[in-house]
Order: sequence, then structure tokens, then C-alpha cells
Amino acid sequence: MIISKAPTLTDKQLAEVESVVGDFGCNIQVIYGAHRNIYAIIGDERSETMVNRLLGLEYVARVDRMESVYKLMDIRSDLANHRTQVGSVTLGEEPLVIAGHCTIDPSNTNAFLETAHGVKEAGAQAIRGGVWKPRTSPHSYQGSSKMVDVLLKAREETGLPVVAEVMDDAQLDVALAAKLDILQIGTRNALNYTFLAQVGKKTAEAGVPVLLKRGRHMGPVDEFISAAEYLAANGNPNVIFCPRGTMPELDGFRNHPDESITPLLKEKSWAPVVVDPSHSVGRAKYVPQCSLAAIAYGADGLVIESHVNPISGIGDDPKQAITPEVLKKLIHDVGVVWGLR
Ligand code: PEP
Ligand code: MN
Repeated sequence: MIISKAPTLTDKQLAEVESVVGDFGCNIQVIYGAHRNIYAIIGDERSETMVNRLLGLEYVARVDRMESVYKLMDIRSDLANHRTQVGSVTLGEEPLVIAGHCTIDPSNTNAFLETAHGVKEAGAQAIRGGVWKPRTSPHSYQGSSKMVDVLLKAREETGLPVVAEVMDDAQLDVALAAKLDILQIGTRNALNYTFLAQVGKKTAEAGVPVLLKRGRHMGPVDEFISAAEYLAANGNPNVIFCPRGTMPELDGFRNHPDESITPLLKEKSWAPVVVDPSHSVGRAKYVPQCSLAAIAYGADGLVIESHVNPISGIGDDPKQAITPEVLKKLIHDVGVVWGLR
């Protein structure tokens, strides 16, 4: 609907507005109020070009669309009953906990395997391990394709599904050839639309679940859901939303914790939400509180950085990984909060 700056449009302005929406197969229905009129757009109002043309008219204050710009991810879409499966867990039916290293250290791969067993024993149902890493500094360890084998060894030894982040097409091909069980699209690529489309296309046939992190600078909820739409529209509806904190950071935390976004996502989309508390708060000591808050807000699961000996780890592990012992208690508490919902 169109809200004009003045309480009503002049006849000439109304005719202009009708002509703009007419080009997109829509009509205007005037809703007459006591003090101001509202101009409802009747028809398919999703065209961004139409909205932009209306916003370009200097007497138009706002254009609000009733229809969402995303079609497949919308809670009213035909996919609304779609369920995503990760290993033994159907998302939504029980809490999914993914845990493991931020980064697999090539000089100490045993630590990763130990962690894999530790998080399994703690009750996690999937294992994370950074193979390729998006590092702020080009001088930091960037990851290595060789670590895929270590991740696969962890899967073989534990029987649990494994997840790693992919940042480009070449990594995507390696991850798909290795049949990794979940692919993570990190915060830096969350708005890389050509890559999202490529991931959607290449994972369409196998339907590999994609853990889509929220961009650090992502604003409206719709922007997050629209990013997911790129995956679904290119053939893979197994998208998992992953809030992980945004910018600017909250004093003392690594980012601004955003686990409270979950009910807003769930009002608009049917897709599951798995919160990453580790990158959100960025300190091991706050991870349990953030995790429980996420579950209380309605998350379907958590992806948590965990390490048998965090201080000896690389990447984020020394500062934000929790030990499998802490994870075990946390998973128990997650079950309690889940039961209260
Ligand atoms: C990670 O999961 O280790 C990571 C780098 O994630 P993000 O994209 O959220 O920073
Ligand atoms: Mn990390």
C-alpha cells in the first residue's frame, strides 16, 4: 500500500500512481479515511522495480508490501511442511547440537579426533570442523583441503555427520566430492548472491543441508530470508538459518548477540533456526547462557565451538571453545529449556 506525504493525493498524482502500477498489472483501491487516504495496490505487488518507481515519486512517503519478496522461504509457501534432516535428527522435533573445533589444526589433528569423540559422548549429534577459514588477516592460517580427510575420519570413527564452511566454488566441489553432510555458508558470504545461487544449484540434487549464517551487517529479517531464498530458488530447500551475532559488537562480546531474532524468523519463514552462540558472544564463559537463551527464544538447535583443550587450539578456539565437559552439562540444560517451551 502507498502512503502519501500529504493526507491525500491530487487527482493528477493518483492518475500517475495508477499508471505506474498499471504497467505491472496492478490497480489502486483508494481507502478513504477521516483525515487521510490510503492507496492499496491490488494485484501482485512484489515487483521491486514497481516499488522503486513509486518511491521515486516525490509525493510518496512509503510503500508497504503485504506480500513477501521471497516466495519459497515464506511461511505461506508450499514448502511450509518441509522438514530438514541432519543425521538422526529431524529439525524441529528435538534440539540439534553441532559441536567441534573452529579450525582443524594441521599440526595436531589428533586433538580434533579427540574432540569429535568428546562431543559425541557429551550428546552432540553432528561435528563441526573448520577446513577452510575466512580469516580477517591474510597472514593467519587459511585452512587446507587436506583437513577434509581428518573431518571424514572423525565421521568414520564417530558415525556422526560433519559440517565445514565453504567459501568458493573450488571448495564447494571438494566438499561435495567428499560428501560432507552439511555445508556452512559463513557470515562473509551470506550476501554473496552469485555464490549462494551456485551452492543452491550444486547441492540441489543431493539436498545437502546448508547452514546459512547471518551476515554481520545484515539489517532486516527479510534480508536474511531473501539470502536463503537464493538457495531454495536454485533447487535446495534444506536451508538452516544461523544467527551468529551482528555488528556493532556489544561491549565485552565479540558481536551483538542476535538469538532473539528466532521468533521473528519463524513468523515469516518455515525454515529451521540453529543459533551459533560462539561467534555471537565470542567468549567461552558466556556461551552456555547465550545457548540457553537461544533455545528459550525457539531455536531448533545450536552450533557450538568445542575443543578438548581450547588453550592449545588455533583460530577462535582458545577464546571461545567450550570443553566437552561443559558441553555435556549444557546439552542437558538445553533439554530442560526445550521441555519448558
Ligand atoms: C566459523 O564458523 O568458524 C566462522 C568463521 O563463522 P562466521 O562466518 O560466523 O564468522
Ligand atoms: Mn570460529
